[in-house]
Amino acid sequence: MNNRDDFPQRVKDILCERVGGKCSNPGCRHETKGPHSDSKKRVSIGQAAHITAASKGGPRYNPNMTSEQRKDIENGIWLCDSCAKMIDSDESQYPVELLKMWKSMAEYEQYRAINQKANSLETNCGFENRKNVACRKTKEALDNLHNTLQYGYEYWKLNFENRFKSYDLENELDNHWELYRTNLEQIYTYEEKQAVLYATITEYALDLGVELCEEINGYCNLLKFVYQSDNCGLYNNYWRCFFETLSKNINSLINHKRTIDTLLHQRYSA
Ligand SMILES: [Zn+2]
Repeated sequence: MNNRDDFPQRVKDILCERVGGKCSNPGCRHETKGPHSDSKKRVSIGQAAHITAASKGGPRYNPNMTSEQRKDIENGIWLCDSCAKMIDSDESQYPVELLKMWKSMAEYEQYRAINQKANSLETNCGFENRKNVACRKTKEALDNLHNTLQYGYEYWKLNFENRFKSYDLENELDNHWELYRTNLEQIYTYEEKQAVLYATITEYALDLGVELCEEINGYCNLLKFVYQSDNCGLYNNYWRCFFETLSKNINSLINHKRTIDTLLHQRYSA
């Protein structure tokens, strides 16, 4: 008799599709599906891995879970074959909480990816007037920045919000920098994206009009914060100050973004 609580095929398919077929490990994000040389077949180098093991003695096995819970979609994460092997060969490095975090980050990224496409202003074929170019470029620059900030906010909620009192965050980052580095470097690109947005509204200020430019400046002002650094790496509270500002202002940022989007659409079609 088989004592493993394997996932039904439908659960495997959904897990895979929720992350666009890519490995959920943020340090990997490898594609896992593609065509086979036989035109009737496909290649898969991914699998629905168990967050807590499917059978007794397996990695991260939780005896308190029922068989139903073990094969439920909540207990699965889509990974490439090598990452699936990696998380099972070194359990203490890849605890349940970390895998759950990977899963929701990957799903969030995929969510942003498909929504960005649906919401972006369409590029006209042929000649496009300068005003529409201005709106489209501004929209792209703002979406880029906003997605990174939302990603940062989700990351903060998942990793830091309830785990660290304000000052502890600096110690945690000091002690476990490698664990957070990839994600924080990605979040840090918001500064560059903000610079692109500024450059765009400076170039197209006349085409965008005063109201839009003021709204966008208002949005960017919500990102201003001061922090302290000794410049030699012993003390730096950049990330704490950044996340405090971001979490305090996230709702205002979302509201501002909505207003700007409406104004851009009005101006674009006008
Ligand atoms: Zn992988």
